[in-house]
Amino acid sequence: MTLLEGSIGVEDLVLLEPLEQESLIKNLQLRYENREIYTYIGNVLVSVNPYQQLPIYGPEFIARYWDHTFYELKPHVYALANVAYQSLRDQDQDQCILITGESGAGKTEASKLVMTYVAAVCGEGERVNSVKEQLLQSNPVLEAFGNAKTIRNNNSSRFGKYMDIEFDFKGSPLGGVITNYLLEKSRVVKHFEGERNFHIFYQLLAGADPQLLKALKLERDTDGYAYLNPGASRVDGMDDTANFKTLQSAMTVIGFSKEEIRQVLEVVALVLKLGNVELADEFQANGIPASGIRDGRGIQEIGEMVGLNSVELERALCSRTVETAKEKVVTALNVVQVGTGEKRKVMGVLDIYGFEILEDNSFEQFVINYCNEKLQQVFIEITLKEEQEEYKREGIPWVKVDYFDNGIICNLIEHNQQGILAMLDEECLRPGVVSDSTFLAKLNQVFSKHGHYESKVTQNAQHQYDHSMGLSCFRICHYAGKVTYNVNSFIDKNNDLLFRDLSQAMWKAQHPLLRSLFPEGDPKQASLKRPPTAGVQFKGSVAILMKNLYSKKPNYIRCIKPNEHQQRGEFSSELVAVQARYLGLLENVRVRRAGYAYRQTYESFLERYRLLSRSTWPRWDGGDREGVEKVLGELSVSSEELAFGKTKIFIRSPKTLFYLEDQRRL
Ligand code: ATP
Ligand code: MG
Repeated sequence: MTLLEGSIGVEDLVLLEPLEQESLIKNLQLRYENREIYTYIGNVLVSVNPYQQLPIYGPEFIARYWDHTFYELKPHVYALANVAYQSLRDQDQDQCILITGESGAGKTEASKLVMTYVAAVCGEGERVNSVKEQLLQSNPVLEAFGNAKTIRNNNSSRFGKYMDIEFDFKGSPLGGVITNYLLEKSRVVKHFEGERNFHIFYQLLAGADPQLLKALKLERDTDGYAYLNPGASRVDGMDDTANFKTLQSAMTVIGFSKEEIRQVLEVVALVLKLGNVELADEFQANGIPASGIRDGRGIQEIGEMVGLNSVELERALCSRTVETAKEKVVTALNVVQVGTGEKRKVMGVLDIYGFEILEDNSFEQFVINYCNEKLQQVFIEITLKEEQEEYKREGIPWVKVDYFDNGIICNLIEHNQQGILAMLDEECLRPGVVSDSTFLAKLNQVFSKHGHYESKVTQNAQHQYDHSMGLSCFRICHYAGKVTYNVNSFIDKNNDLLFRDLSQAMWKAQHPLLRSLFPEGDPKQASLKRPPTAGVQFKGSVAILMKNLYSKKPNYIRCIKPNEHQQRGEFSSELVAVQARYLGLLENVRVRRAGYAYRQTYESFLERYRLLSRSTWPRWDGGDREGVEKVLGELSVSSEELAFGKTKIFIRSPKTLFYLEDQRRL
């Protein structure tokens, strides 16, 4: 155990004195500047992105953390992965690892470190190794198709990811299931200056050998493609050519055949080519059916590539009839399917966007923040429940912990009839003239008295009149702070329609993969029933996720971005303070300290402190608990401060622990 002694600041924020936002940030900063990026809040891991390779990973460190319990070594993502894996294996308890934080905070890197750790310790053997390999190799594939350079992160995941890794009773991996959330599809056709499209496009152009390039009828130069911003094709420190090789071998490991890889790349090429098809201006500008396509040759080439009649393709691109079908928000990718009947243990890893407040917040931020609101609910309910259960297990009087219950905000968004999502759906489905503003008007009417809803119209004596809020906006007081959403395009984004003509045309392609991507284009499948809206689908997938998380023991990694410049060594207190607030770190420490700030097994406690008592040092032959009683009795620690559980000693305030530590140092 290395708490305090020899440590920079405190290694566990529970020990912070005084406990306030400022000292919390200072402590993180002090540690960060000494390249200590990990800090605990009890069993929660706080991780500050170092933006540099630290010499604290790899087989040697994995072995070290494997051999020690949680508090024995410095805080580390390996220690957390170790606790999760060992409890899964030995206590038969399904685990989940929830990784949150804003873009660039290090969530995906943390998830990879967890996976590498688990893969390293979870057994050997030919079959096991092949499963491990597949699990690890899913990352380059997901990143090629789902990550992109953004202004905030050169390798930003543009989707949320939840991965269940399944193990047998011995703790050997059997396989995994990955669920994706809310892929930012719009990036294919549009992204900000200085940002890139998904990595795959650049990887393909840079990495394909001349033969493949020719077969796909592509040019090496990215500048020729309308979907690839000219001038922003290269990313410092990112080797698209090498990554393309990695991608191809990863796809092979996962189980794609040569032919399937080829088909995937053909679809990628097709997208690039479609981007170069120029439609008549009026179509592009306002979606009104256009007169035609400017460049017939491009369309013909595409048609030939995927076995589509070019006349039909053109018609599909230029007209719009009944609107139906859309693609799923959630897709499950089976990495490995193993058909054994034995009971499985599961470790879930969630790498999902944190709470977002941008300058302009739209439907995407609304659903992302809804998801975070739900995750906060899981956190509150499970952490507190866990806390209470530990007291019960240890036979210690029940301690009431006060906290803010965000159920009211979840309800405001998700209530089946009177929730914002339901009302948005109602507006999307209602016949007659509907618009974003009729939707807003309705919200304003229904929620005029709601304590967590504000808008320019509902602002009254209760709320300060705020000139910064536009007429097309509403504001929600989230647990993490207020966010103003602009309702523009809420209706369209919720409808998320793909024109039926297009899916029908695609379904007619000879190309097997392309065809399979548009099952709704099959005229036999076509129904006039509207598909569920984006909001309903997201709400449904969040509900499934929550159910999944509630059945597991959660382990938290809270990731923090230290600066806006992706720079090593730079720590902006203001930026970190904002994130600490969204992540609820201070509240987390308070909850943790509300009952007993500190608990430790008798054995570990005695090991560390037995030198403080003449009865237990240098020799002690009695039981651990008696030894602990002797030590604390001799130091006259007030009984108010202590609770003796079945296996653990509980200490109420950090001050007592400081006192013990001081004594050790004398
Ligand atoms: P997004 O939400 O945009 O996907 P993220 O939270 O997943 O962001 P990452 O992609 O994990 O962020 O991290 C961003 C970058 O920060 C990485 O590409 C890497 O360069 C650096 N980084 C993150 N964690 C570490 C680490 N532990 N050690 C070294 N570098 C790191
Ligand atoms: Mg990421």
